[in-house]
Amino acid sequence: MGEDHMERLIEGHKRFLAEVFPGRKSQFHLLAETQAPEWLFITCSDSRVLPDLILGTGPGDLFITRNAGNVVPLTSQDVDGCTATIEYAVEVLRVKHAILCGHSDCGAMKAALDRAGLDALPKARRWLQHVEAAFAHRQPVNSAEGESAELASLIRGNVVAQLWNLKAQPSVVRAVDEGRLTVHGWYYDILSGRIEEYDEELRKFVVLGE
Ligand SMILES: [Zn+2]
Repeated sequence: MGEDHMERLIEGHKRFLAEVFPGRKSQFHLLAETQAPEWLFITCSDSRVLPDLILGTGPGDLFITRNAGNVVPLTSQDVDGCTATIEYAVEVLRVKHAILCGHSDCGAMKAALDRAGLDALPKARRWLQHVEAAFAHRQPVNSAEGESAELASLIRGNVVAQLWNLKAQPSVVRAVDEGRLTVHGWYYDILSGRIEEYDEELRKFVVLGE
């Protein structure tokens, strides 16, 4: 049953080996034994968020950790994949920038708004306790947006909330103090392709690069 769908991936991989890899062989050889990414990128697992595509980056550029809702757990009892990845990126790889990126139409944030859908998802329900702080950080939004203002406002609020959690990680506190790391909060809009950055001084989201 799943064979048709796997076929697409296998064909894609064959095309990669035949058409893409040969032209980039030297780049992959340089990267085969070492990496020195400058950016840590923390985003949602959503299939519509394609970091390398929207940023023009490629192999060796972005060190990425993803999870439902682009969460940086602040108070988990046990270690989790996201904060362990942040620690490694900051302490060992010495990335120069850490970017926390949320996105429009986020299913995790929809679930946080309508918790009834989480009844059969015990792990997701516990995970999404980490986004509760988003409600306290809700942001004003442009009413012309396609999605509900309530959701758009909460998604941006979650970027702000997770940004604070990121900045509270001990490795991040140290690196920012030493002046070797800058932290950013982004919102990616799937419909327009545009990115907004949270401006901490203005306390609002502004179009990236303007
Ligand atoms: Zn999402």
